[in-house]
Amino acid sequence: MSVHEPTRDAGTSGVRLVCAPARPADILLRDVHALDPRTGLDGRRDVLVRDGVITQIADPGTIATPPGSETVEGEGRHLFAAFVDPHVHLRTPGQEHKEDLETGTRSAAAGGYCAVIAMPNTSPTIDSAPILGALLDAAAREARVPVGFMPAITRGLQGTELTDMAELRKLGAAGFTDDGRPVTDAGVLRRALQYQRLCGGVLALHEEDPALSGKGAMHEGVVSAMLGVAGIPSVSESTLIARDCALAGYENARIHIQHLSARESVEAIAAAKSRGVAVTCEASPHHLTMTDEDVRTLDTRRKMNPPLRAEEDRQALIEGLRDGTIDCIATDHAPHARDEKEVPFEQAPMGTTGLETAFSAVYTDLVLPGDLSLELVVEKLTAGLGLLDLFVPSVAVGEAANLVLVDLDAEWVVGESGYESRSENSCFAGRTLRGRVLLTVAAGAVAYRERSTLLTQVGAGDGPARVTSSEGQSLR
Ligand SMILES: [Zn+2]
Repeated sequence: MSVHEPTRDAGTSGVRLVCAPARPADILLRDVHALDPRTGLDGRRDVLVRDGVITQIADPGTIATPPGSETVEGEGRHLFAAFVDPHVHLRTPGQEHKEDLETGTRSAAAGGYCAVIAMPNTSPTIDSAPILGALLDAAAREARVPVGFMPAITRGLQGTELTDMAELRKLGAAGFTDDGRPVTDAGVLRRALQYQRLCGGVLALHEEDPALSGKGAMHEGVVSAMLGVAGIPSVSESTLIARDCALAGYENARIHIQHLSARESVEAIAAAKSRGVAVTCEASPHHLTMTDEDVRTLDTRRKMNPPLRAEEDRQALIEGLRDGTIDCIATDHAPHARDEKEVPFEQAPMGTTGLETAFSAVYTDLVLPGDLSLELVVEKLTAGLGLLDLFVPSVAVGEAANLVLVDLDAEWVVGESGYESRSENSCFAGRTLRGRVLLTVAAGAVAYRERSTLLTQVGAGDGPARVTSSEGQSLR
């Protein structure tokens, strides 16, 4: 079976992850430092991919390049299972001047990602079967790495009337979310949780109490007071998390809390988990590496929701990753056009791009100083789709090739040579980061190659020039 044909697509989860047809990779990754924390793999190896599947892992220098296969000289550079992101904004339909399926998934591949889940706060909202169906069809033509979609919990993100969750689920919805907004009405959320239990598909929740966040534009604290900018208090997030964990526990439903930013939120999740509530959560690279001190310049690329918070919040997120309270790292990749961001801070839209910088930012700011181990970071960057009952990529024989080759010693300046994303609102713009993605293989096909440094050669004989079917991802 080709790796581009789904093996679990209509099975237990029914979720559809879709990308455009691509030629399955035949590639020998020679003498790479293969690291997969889940299997204990950690050392220099040759890794052979044939027809998109990992077929052999052996001591370096022991695998000969098969005829027609490409050889990449790893020279000890690191090979991980490719990353997955349960939270990205691809801006289609309706806002293609910011991003679309092609540019968004190109950006994902450049960041080492092999699959992403797109949010529904588009124009129109992804809240009906025809819209979801059209997007899945478009992804089969345009997406460079597999994309899944989370339709809205409520129609038009209005917070009142539920979408047809059962029908959307049958069509392949990866879950449901009103991301960008909270489900403020507890009664509405309670009904959504009851449907979740019946039809599956985790509810991913953006948590903020609008009565508390109001017109705030940054974290409420010393810096906001000094700048005279209206603040968003930490408790606007944590109080709604506490409420929704209580509701999920009461309804025996499953929730996933998006982009945790505050210490109080980590405490609320830890308390809920200890009570046995089926809750998982994510934190973003920017919340893990930056604080409200970084907003002093009023750079609108550092305006996002939830906002960059205080150092004690950042430390709580790091500790949450360490102790398992926080399950995964997700980017909340949120492209905005330059002219939309080039306005006074209070008026600028919230969001930063994140796919191309996620690994390097976390590696530079947290792994190199010794706050987090490389193993833990790789684990958290590859965990997000498993939380949605999809898949966890692995460097193991028999697995579809979902791999990322990284040069941990390479330095690069964010934005210096542009972005793959259509938008350039990176909160890390101008930063010098360590760790450069050289090659990404997604769903068995090469999805990204760094232009300048990677030396490859093709073995003798003609390579297969076939293109396989478009759907999905070999999940097991
Ligand atoms: Zn959000």
